[in-house]
Amino acid sequence: MNPTPVNLLEFDVDGLVAWFAAQGEKPFRARQVMRWLHREGCTDFDAMTDVAKALRARLAEQACVRPPQPISDRISADGTRKWLLDVGAGNAVETVFIPEATRGTLCVSSQAGCALDCAFCSTGKQGFNRNLSAAEIIGQLWLANRLLGGGADGERVVSNVVMMGMGEPLTNLDNVITALRLMLDDHAYGLSRRRVTVSTAGIVPAMDRLREECPVALAVSLHAPNDALRDRLVPINLKYPLAKLLAACRRYLDRAPRDFVTFEYVMLDGVNDSDGHARELVAIAGEVPCKFNLIPFNPFPGAPFSRSPASRIRRFAGALAEAGIVATTRKTRGDDVDAACGQLAGRVKDRSRRTIRLAEMETKS
Ligand code: SAH
Repeated sequence: MNPTPVNLLEFDVDGLVAWFAAQGEKPFRARQVMRWLHREGCTDFDAMTDVAKALRARLAEQACVRPPQPISDRISADGTRKWLLDVGAGNAVETVFIPEATRGTLCVSSQAGCALDCAFCSTGKQGFNRNLSAAEIIGQLWLANRLLGGGADGERVVSNVVMMGMGEPLTNLDNVITALRLMLDDHAYGLSRRRVTVSTAGIVPAMDRLREECPVALAVSLHAPNDALRDRLVPINLKYPLAKLLAACRRYLDRAPRDFVTFEYVMLDGVNDSDGHARELVAIAGEVPCKFNLIPFNPFPGAPFSRSPASRIRRFAGALAEAGIVATTRKTRGDDVDAACGQLAGRVKDRSRRTIRLAEMETKS
């Protein structure tokens, strides 16, 4: 009988064309529906007025459009906006919109939790729950466009996407690539490859696959200039040490839409922020065309680090600049709503656990 309806947000254009073909429908129909879904943010098949009535009725039976549901929506004093999205089973992920004068950047999550356990990251501390589906990933952009008032008139508030929310995008590559293709597709969001950035802690084989299948701008979470320190801060370094990572960066660049890799570098007081560390980084920059993005550490409860003082960060950036390396310091945005880098923790899970514990205590007593 009627199977579970298919969520059409799961498909990129090729996927939707194939699904339509299986129903005996022409590719142009799929593209038409794709525009309704992603450009107009339409969830009601009946409202897709240029789609044949019979097809609309069939879609209503077999398919659905189901973006993730926001549980909370908070706006920081600096205009940064953060949504907590329900992804089922008591889990939630976060999406952050960062408005600036010349662009609007959406920071998108790829997993509920994260398995990599970087020492300074609060998402890592909660462990790994599951990969987000393609619909849950692209659904964050779908929702942001809708809630920010973009869509119908073609005017888009989100001009840039960074895969820098919760999770390691390159360990959920199939779903991430489907979502990236939608971000780039003119029938969907039509963003330029240069304005879509994937950030990775350095999953080398997946960097090569991304390069082959959907090269977009690349950011790499470096955070340390040598293996001994990086092993400690970013444990995936034990598997893919710096020499392998830097070689993968070089390979990536011959297909990348930009001619440099962005190295993210969290500034941890007394840990990775000395003049000596800056000198070691200069040597790395000689191997890979790059820019540095210094991120002042954002503390979270129980974090074993503190933020480097502003004067130290300035001196560190200065040392890189003297060697001819562009180094910007990331402005901390949205920290009053816990939206800053490394603070995205999808709080609901903890709360619901506590609720369950309380409920259990009540039933026992
Ligand atoms: N897993 C991917 C995507 C996360 S992006 C990656 O590692 O690149 C989020 C960025 O914020 C990464 O560079 C991450 O290392 C950094 N980050 C994590 N915790 C942080 C914290 N507490 N303060 C500042 N930056 C942090």
